[in-house]
Amino acid sequence: MTSNSTFYFPAPITQHFCTQCGYQLTRMRPPLDNKERDCCTHCGAVHYRNPLPVVGTLPIWEDKILLCKRAIEPCYGKWTLPAGFMELDESTEQGAIRETLEEAGAHIQLQQLLTILDVPSVSQVHLYYLATLQNLHFTPGEESLEVQLFSFENIPWAEIAFPTVEKTLHYYIECYPHSTPPPLHLVLP
Ligand SMILES: [Zn+2]
Repeated sequence: MTSNSTFYFPAPITQHFCTQCGYQLTRMRPPLDNKERDCCTHCGAVHYRNPLPVVGTLPIWEDKILLCKRAIEPCYGKWTLPAGFMELDESTEQGAIRETLEEAGAHIQLQQLLTILDVPSVSQVHLYYLATLQNLHFTPGEESLEVQLFSFENIPWAEIAFPTVEKTLHYYIECYPHSTPPPLHLVLP
């Protein structure tokens, strides 16, 4: 593979070969487990797959919200809050700050957790923190076409990328100007 466009993120994830020894995996129920897993009958490794946390922010400046226009699939060209998959060895807060910097070039002061949204259909949990922009020097990162501040009445509702982003925006606007809304926890289809 030579081009970035030939890489993709396989979901739902299945695994064919053992990452420990390279042997072909068998779908079976390991001892003391109640679910089938990808197991290596050669070295004994059990390859558990677990939900992925997605972390992001709702960055605000006065009474405006920062959104990013996506430059990647899925939902190319739609508007989203800066967010992405957690990296290994980081906290949810560190991940949210990193994603905001990567996607929006925005420096923020992280505030409280705003939403916890379970999405079992894709085995993900999305966590959004409220954040205040430290300045207006934001700029689109490689995964964004544009970064823009929107007043509540100008949010492009018909062009929002994901249901979790839409829920988080609605919740913030519903609570405004309550400065410390309690975290909203929902299960989305
Ligand atoms: Zn193995």
